[in-house]
Amino acid sequence: MKYFSTRGGDATLTFEEAVLAGLAPNGGLYIPEHIPTLPPNWQSEWASYSFQDLSVAVLSLYISDEEISRQELRALVDKSYSTFRHPDIAPVQKLGDGKFILELFHGPTFAFKDVALQLLGNLFEFFLIRRNANRLPSEKPEKLTVVGATSGDTGSAAIYGLRSKANVSIFILHPKGRVSPIQEAQMTTVTDANVHNVAVKGTFDDCQDIVKALFADRAFNDKHRLGAVNSINWARILAQTVYYFVAYFHIRKQLHSGGAELQFVVPTGNFGDILAGYYAKRMGLPMGKLVVATNSNDILARFWRNGRYEKIDPSFAVGDRETEPVGGASDGKQAVGGGVRETLSPAMDILVSSNFERLLWYLAYETEGGASESARRAAAGLMVNEWMSKMKLDGRVEVPVAVLELARRDFLAERISDEQTLETIRRHFSGNPSYVADPHTAVGLSVAGMIAPHNAPGTVQVILSTAHPAKFSEAVTRALEGSANFDFDRKVLPEEFRGLLDKPKRVIDVEAPSEELVKNVIDAHVGDSADA
Ligand SMILES: *Cc1c(COP(=O)(O)O)cnc(C)c1O
Repeated sequence: MKYFSTRGGDATLTFEEAVLAGLAPNGGLYIPEHIPTLPPNWQSEWASYSFQDLSVAVLSLYISDEEISRQELRALVDKSYSTFRHPDIAPVQKLGDGKFILELFHGPTFAFKDVALQLLGNLFEFFLIRRNANRLPSEKPEKLTVVGATSGDTGSAAIYGLRSKANVSIFILHPKGRVSPIQEAQMTTVTDANVHNVAVKGTFDDCQDIVKALFADRAFNDKHRLGAVNSINWARILAQTVYYFVAYFHIRKQLHSGGAELQFVVPTGNFGDILAGYYAKRMGLPMGKLVVATNSNDILARFWRNGRYEKIDPSFAVGDRETEPVGGASDGKQAVGGGVRETLSPAMDILVSSNFERLLWYLAYETEGGASESARRAAAGLMVNEWMSKMKLDGRVEVPVAVLELARRDFLAERISDEQTLETIRRHFSGNPSYVADPHTAVGLSVAGMIAPHNAPGTVQVILSTAHPAKFSEAVTRALEGSANFDFDRKVLPEEFRGLLDKPKRVIDVEAPSEELVKNVIDAHVGDSADA
């Protein structure tokens, strides 16, 4: 299987090249040459598979055996999920009203990004070790320096994904004192030699700007081979397709019926999690429409309403400052301020959804004519290129009606306010069984409740739960304090979080939001890795 850019060009890359590159040089995202279909007997053969078995089965369809042998893939998968606390990796819970919750937060940082980042870190290490084993004695070993900025909610997943990996150093910038204490501790208590938490005296925007400047600096970039682990990396999407299969088999067993149609509801920001579901659907996993659940950063919900992909909602006051998508630099939020609204589900506070471009490519491809497969592909690449250029220039683009109709064939989208989020947390806490949802999961639950009355009979809703409630304690406490039987410390706080604040920390302070100071830190510490 080869990969090519959503913005066209003839270049095709191996899986390894696509994963190490992240973003394509023309600004596009890598997608597979074709979407593989499932083997004929998958329904029976895969039914008893564990998460890891399914992971190997699904990934094998996208990674050729010559690139990574099945044995090596099995070892990478087993290692990646050995850090999870739950034997099922992604367990499925049943709620009282017939809904199911697919819990994706049992990894080391208690959020769904672990599912992909644990694998990505091992893939990086695997590729670099192999490259270095094949190099001539006169050649310098290949190393990767991952740099990113975080406002708190996603940095730790990257850190845990790359901790102690050979040939990899990671520098994560966060705004000093502006990250919640638990999130700060989750990052800075990782004391592996190759992990560098950089606390910058400044804002998240400052951190993000510094990271952008580093990536733009050719000389610095060449010197250190900078890399990113943001959500556009193809390996992250691929790793996430697996749990849609996990949920399918689990629920099929529970319901003893093949007739129920699954409706996945996905709390969405950068469109990576739900895009994985789209690939699963296109591969042939039976499901109804995928449901995009957004908070008030609702660019996607607006797109499905009117076919316009626009940063700023024209029905609201115009933002004071527009911001660019970050490209290679960071994950999670694109920027705070400007058009981004701060919500109770901060990991979904985005202005644009970086992975949406991949869906746009498929929509363009399906609606474009073309004499041959390659002509059709080229036309789709041109179309996406034009849309993304417009987006960059004007902050908005409108797609043709045929494209919107096609998008509506596979997706629904709704937006949820903070008030609805809090109300949903309360409702599910007092449900039977009682369930404590984090605010991101609550956005999904809220949308599920909103659309359920319109569903065909027999539809089974599966809400993807993207974070453990303790990780967003402020919102959960705000929703539930005063509720009978609510005791955060006893009912929500996991054992692992107790004492976290008192553990030894390792953090490098940078006294001003200065690119030069951060460069000095990277120059000084890039060698501090276990393999140095
Ligand atoms: C990243 C994240 C999301 C959004 O996922 P996308 O793939 O960006 O759509 C939702 N919830 C949590 C807790 C996250 O960390």
